[in-house]
Amino acid sequence: MMEIISQYADLVDSLILAARKMYSFRYEMSDGGNLSMRVPGKDWMIVKGTNVAFDEIAISSLVVTDFEGNVIEGSCKPSKESLLHGVLYSALPHVNAIMHCHSPYATAWASDHDSLAFSTHHAREKLNFCPVVDTHSYVVPREYFTTIVNLFQENENLKSFILRGHGQVTVGKTMREAVYLAELVEETAQISVLSQAMKYHDEKGF
Ligand SMILES: [Zn+2]
Repeated sequence: MMEIISQYADLVDSLILAARKMYSFRYEMSDGGNLSMRVPGKDWMIVKGTNVAFDEIAISSLVVTDFEGNVIEGSCKPSKESLLHGVLYSALPHVNAIMHCHSPYATAWASDHDSLAFSTHHAREKLNFCPVVDTHSYVVPREYFTTIVNLFQENENLKSFILRGHGQVTVGKTMREAVYLAELVEETAQISVLSQAMKYHDEKGF
């Protein structure tokens, strides 16, 4: 029972910790979002089960799948975004962890902009570029996978993107890195939203 997952206790611990942290920050509410980690040396990933809330993730609600989303181990159905994660792991060998959450400020910013405005020098230095991708759907359809992979191949230091009307995605060598990037994307978006609101406020002479 869960023989593969139990071999990777450190990865599972970091994945569960990350999910609870994102939930406690209210970066993910309800049962949406997804996160995953590459199984070292295999074309497999450990991924959240579908409709499992971030604060309820446990070993029993994780699954091991291949990069096409076929279940290798576990009793849950993999998250709907698993196929996108598999495509990213296949195309990007340096990526070992992916965080996807519907954080409010990043998603709000993406509703009307084509990339995240870097409201701090820190964000510009760390994120380099954070494009907005509009897939016109609540789950990224297959026909957008090439567009997203191309963004990474054309921008060597790309670590994040925001899906319009949906949420943000960050990638890292570790889950810790992906989580800190997600925090930075959300913090940056929050400051950008506030800066824009203050500018509007000043222009209107309130
Ligand atoms: Zn989502």
